[in-house]
Amino acid sequence: MRRRKKPGSEEKLLSKDKLVVAEPERYKGTWHTYFQQKGEIHVEIGTGRGQFLTTMAERNPHINYVGIEMKEEVLLQAVIKAEEKKLQNIAFLWLDANRLTEIFEDSELQRMFINFCDPWPKNRWAKRRLTYRGFLEIYKNLLAASGEIHFKTDNAKLFEFSLNEFSHCDFQLKKITFDLHQSDLQENITTEYEDKFVQMGKPIYRCEARKRN
Ligand code: SAM
Repeated sequence: MRRRKKPGSEEKLLSKDKLVVAEPERYKGTWHTYFQQKGEIHVEIGTGRGQFLTTMAERNPHINYVGIEMKEEVLLQAVIKAEEKKLQNIAFLWLDANRLTEIFEDSELQRMFINFCDPWPKNRWAKRRLTYRGFLEIYKNLLAASGEIHFKTDNAKLFEFSLNEFSHCDFQLKKITFDLHQSDLQENITTEYEDKFVQMGKPIYRCEARKRN
């Protein structure tokens, strides 16, 4: 069944103009001027309700975070979390990741996060997966040398597909785990979906993919 949008969420989202950037193309190549501090720019694609990114921003005040999400009613929840935490080092973009090259300049980003993206299970949908090679080549251009993509999923097939895609695009893979919550990785910040899957007893797959110099 198709979920109905909450009425008024678009207007509410657009009214949060301290955190939701209107016309983000304006900042292409100059995102450091948007934030009140210089510092690395880390982007999450498919931010959802924002638990992960707002916690990261709270813990790492010297890093600037950008959350990208295409569903306004979900993004609104993330923005409200950032407001409540009074975060200065976070911005949200209401847009489709297909538009990334309009928003960021090559080499402008130091890190990207993809957490529990839609698996698009049928073969004919592979190009829609956010870890499809077409997307990875775009991310690679936007990342600075040694920039990294941190990827988590509950979906074994998507994880296997993604590892192959990262390798195909010449990323260097590291810290691969097939059961994150039983691993020795320190300081894992969970997402809303992750909490749900862990409660269901599902293993979480994670890797880091580094752009070669
Ligand atoms: N990362 C969150 C988490 O782990 O709790 C949300 C995961 S949810 C399964 C995937 C999210 O990605 C959805 O909120 C969806 O709207 C968003 N999304 C999917 N494709 C996207 C795209 N091309 N651009 C921006 N957001 C996208």
